[in-house]
Amino acid sequence: MSGPSTDPEIAGLIERESRRRASTLQLIASETPASPAVRAALVSDLGAKYAEGYPGARFHGGCEVVDEVEQLAIDRAAERFGADYVNVQPLSGSAANLAVYAAFAQIGDPVLALRLEHGGHQTHGSRANFSGRWFAPLHYGVREADERIDYDELRDLALLHRPSIIVAGGAAYSRVIDFAALRAIADDAEAILWVDAAHLAGLVAGAVVPSPVPYADVVTLSTHKVLQGPRGGMILAREMHRAVLQKAVQPFVQGGPAMNTIAATAVCMRESGTREFAEYAAATVATARRLGDELTARGLRIVSGGTDIHLAVVDVSSVGLTGIEAQLRLAAAGVVVDRAVLPFDHRPPAEGSAIRVGTPSSVLAGLGVDDMPTVADWIDRALAEPVGGPQHAAIRREIEARVGG
Ligand SMILES: *Cc1c(COP(=O)(O)O)cnc(C)c1O
Repeated sequence: MSGPSTDPEIAGLIERESRRRASTLQLIASETPASPAVRAALVSDLGAKYAEGYPGARFHGGCEVVDEVEQLAIDRAAERFGADYVNVQPLSGSAANLAVYAAFAQIGDPVLALRLEHGGHQTHGSRANFSGRWFAPLHYGVREADERIDYDELRDLALLHRPSIIVAGGAAYSRVIDFAALRAIADDAEAILWVDAAHLAGLVAGAVVPSPVPYADVVTLSTHKVLQGPRGGMILAREMHRAVLQKAVQPFVQGGPAMNTIAATAVCMRESGTREFAEYAAATVATARRLGDELTARGLRIVSGGTDIHLAVVDVSSVGLTGIEAQLRLAAAGVVVDRAVLPFDHRPPAEGSAIRVGTPSSVLAGLGVDDMPTVADWIDRALAEPVGGPQHAAIRREIEARVGG
């Protein structure tokens, strides 16, 4: 066996990516660097093991150790989230979502979810995704007046169309979701209530937002977002759904699980129970709120007027820019964000009129609430000039001096 440095091209690219991360400000809402213990599990010998099946019921020999690994991950996740049933095998959040459709809907069934442009996700009925191609997507949205979920519209659609599944959660909805109201609607419509907590899971683990687990039939999540785990997915559910979900993940969606990732998930489930993690989760929300307030003070409009979680959608049309132009100007200054769309955007998704900012990575880089006026100044100054202007170089230097490792 040779060392990792034997591929000079990839070694060089890894080095460059590490330098890029360390010298710029990461405000991508869905990204966090994993801890050293999570990374150690990922590169361990566990990755070589084939273990199709579940603990105690595998199709391969030699699974006695990985059985214990997977059971530990399941037990820790069950404790962390207060769930009856846990599946740690999904290879990503999207794969977990596919398994939920497989478990609870037939091809062509109506499924009711938050509209993508209002903060949803492509696996919630986009035409470009299996969910929109194989099922009959129905969408609820936010009210134009306050940009918060219209629960009356949601209820009307649910009772009229009787979807198999009602989905809550998304990638760019920044307000606390009323899970109790959704439960009542799902009961009346006799639908499965599925909460896609890909973004929220880390905040739920840190107990800084309400947990969907007591209300939902099934909850899916990505382990690599705010949660700081390995790249993977997870399903939590009520005990009554165990049999159908086990079969939906394997063999319906997947073959053998990534045992190294599952070990890393077990590490993540341990780390996410610490006081340090709870402090980090609280700080991501506090910094996102403060950043929203500081940007508002500088003339940028925040969708729905603010945020309850770790991310905010910022309307850059209020300063005369498209989302993509704002993303590029910020990138030139070393501020890394995603372009986004407004709930009632008149621009196509490839342009958009917004950016999405999130603070989990910046908290981990050492930026706290009191740094947010500085961050808002960087954003404000960077947006004010075309790509490559003199301010951009100056901001890059300021950022490197502040966050550079
Ligand atoms: C990120 C995300 C997912 C899944 O993403 P993966 O990249 O497949 O892990 C699913 N739903 C929502 C709402 C998300 O934000």
